[in-house]
Amino acid sequence: MNETAKRRACATVDRLAGELIAVSRDLHAHPETAHREHRAAALLADRLARGGLAVERGAYGLPTAVAGRAGQSGGGPLVVICCEYDALPGMGHACGHNVVAAAGLGAGLALAALAGPLGGRVLVLGTPAEERGGGKILLAKRGAFDGAGAAMLIHPGPHETVMPHLIAVSTLHAILIGKAAHASMNPDAGINALDALVLGYLGVNALRQHLPQTDKVHGIITLGGTAPNVIPARTAGRFMARSTTLAGLVATRRRVEACLAAGAQAAGARLVAHWQWPTYREMRHNLPLAAAMQANLRALGRRPLAPAAIPPSQAGSTDLGNVSHLIPAVHPKLAICPPDVAQHSPAFARWAIGPAADRAILDGAKALAMTAIDIWLSPTLYPAMRADFATPPGRPSRRRCRPAPAATRSAHPPAAVAALDR
Ligand SMILES: [Zn+2]
Ligand SMILES: [Zn+2]
Repeated sequence: MNETAKRRACATVDRLAGELIAVSRDLHAHPETAHREHRAAALLADRLARGGLAVERGAYGLPTAVAGRAGQSGGGPLVVICCEYDALPGMGHACGHNVVAAAGLGAGLALAALAGPLGGRVLVLGTPAEERGGGKILLAKRGAFDGAGAAMLIHPGPHETVMPHLIAVSTLHAILIGKAAHASMNPDAGINALDALVLGYLGVNALRQHLPQTDKVHGIITLGGTAPNVIPARTAGRFMARSTTLAGLVATRRRVEACLAAGAQAAGARLVAHWQWPTYREMRHNLPLAAAMQANLRALGRRPLAPAAIPPSQAGSTDLGNVSHLIPAVHPKLAICPPDVAQHSPAFARWAIGPAADRAILDGAKALAMTAIDIWLSPTLYPAMRADFATPPGRPSRRRCRPAPAATRSAHPPAAVAALDR
């Protein structure tokens, strides 16, 4: 029954292939940033409704969130499939969320007709504002993941792995306040807020060398003054601090703030530091769920890399991290470009509509659907996921439960759905 259901899900994805790729291209051609994804949300909602899901627009009070539900109420575990669709300011889909959305849509449409007969429940959740704003964290606070058994998505990237390095991150909005004066006639009467910010910025740069190698800080100056002949009275910058855990992040945040405060003190200015809500937590990969996902990707002909094969420096962050501390979750990445192409770059945006991205949509949709079917039908998977989730990270019982060993990158194209028959 398990394999038959998976074959049916994969056949549906293949039948919808042209349409899913068209959705990806459409999103890519009309990039919308955080909480402004009105076109993307409407597109997703329309297609989910036509696919037979019960659709709620503006779900959980977020205008650009969507919820599409199918399956038996009171049935087996509720599987939440997340669709991200926000773009980066000025860069379009340089994170490839058009692929995330199209893959999630494909999985949802494939599962809609199966969930009821298989005794499961699926929620396709259109989750706005991943890049900034923490859409999934807002949705979680409003109950979107309550009672769910698992949350998952497929994300494109330069590496292929079921358990990418996803670490905690926090954003600082720093304002430096000085005193304006004529820059030529009486600079001695001014307090230079730009000097304060630049000195603080240099301090943060110097700090990098002394951080744990897994921690990162980076920032920009968003306001540097108003005129070169005026001593700037007010400047501003945004900085991000990242660490492998929330506990490590607390220490790194303190050190970043100290650098900026030192710059302010040197210039005689005042620092107003505001750490913005929300903090993204590190991803807690659910190991049995990751193992099931990996087995399904391998059945589709993919060869995800072991996490150890990817440099620790290749770490990003996601708002799914917070969800992963509430329910079992997994966040696989499928490779859509050579490993030296950086996410959040114009080149990555071009790869996000390349042939490998299109294949990732179809394989991603299939792998999501197949893994949902495993959660519903396997007698052992869901209990194992719950047991893993109940065990604090780092305990031996979690370490024993590793995903199947990963191979090195494969040159083979994704195999046909017939591979499932094996
Ligand atoms: Zn992303
Ligand atoms: Zn991103």
